[in-house]
Amino acid sequence: MQNVLADLALESEAATVLAMRLARCFDHPDNPAEAMLARILTPAGKYWVCKRGPAFGAEAMEVIGGSGYVEESPLARMYRDFPVNSIWEGSGNIMCLDLLRAFGKSPAAGDALAAELALAGDVDRAFSDYRAALLADVRAMAGQAPDAFGARVLAERIVLALQAALLLRHAPAYVSAAFVASRIACAPGGAFGRLPAGTDCDAILARALPA
Ligand SMILES: Cc1cc2nc3c(=O)[nH]c(=O)nc-3n(C[C@H](O)[C@H](O)[C@H](O)COP(=O)(O)OP(=O)(O)OC[C@H]3O[C@@H](n4cnc5c(N)ncnc54)[C@H](O)[C@@H]3O)c2cc1C
Repeated sequence: MQNVLADLALESEAATVLAMRLARCFDHPDNPAEAMLARILTPAGKYWVCKRGPAFGAEAMEVIGGSGYVEESPLARMYRDFPVNSIWEGSGNIMCLDLLRAFGKSPAAGDALAAELALAGDVDRAFSDYRAALLADVRAMAGQAPDAFGARVLAERIVLALQAALLLRHAPAYVSAAFVASRIACAPGGAFGRLPAGTDCDAILARALPA
């Protein structure tokens, strides 16, 4: 259970830090790099955070058990509402096509992504390798026909890289290390509770839970 709870806490923190970074982009609309980052991050972030939502909600419900399932629990309503987030105001496929459109229209999109990811430095080998592979693939897209077939994977990789970069910069090492180990060094799984042995779940949960 500690593993499940800590994994959920990581997912929540990563989604929150991504949303806050995107909000900061909108605070600086006159800065072209920030505006370009917002152009990428809006569809990619909406796609991935909404896509993780139903699995997150189901796991949170299971943590509480049967009383999480019944209507008296606010989780029942949240669980029902999760899927609509990836339907209205931009369904998953449309968000991913929009992301491709952003890269297709402006070469500066790849530069903005690279600049943001560079801020995390080279403190984690798995992250650095992941970033290098992603940016190479993004550069290779220039001048090519948009790859709608692979658009979801691209969106997922961009968001995971940005979340990891933000956590490496702004969260304690026990948070960023667990995120990188479970989502960058290996693909994120369909279930929560996949953090590797040695993860400091106590510290992650102490950070996540209200004092
Ligand atoms: C609870 C609720 C409240 C709503 N409130 C409002 C409201 O207040 N105002 C309003 O204007 N609308 C509202 N809507 C409508 C909502 O905006 C649409 O449901 C949403 O835009 C998706 O459009 P659609 O239902 O026509 O699905 P479609 O666009 O038909 O999509 C169906 C599926 O096809 C995929 N798809 C569509 N086009 C492509 C493509 N080119 N390539 C690949 N895949 C594609 C989508 O990703 C999706 O998986 C609401 C919807 C719901 C569920």
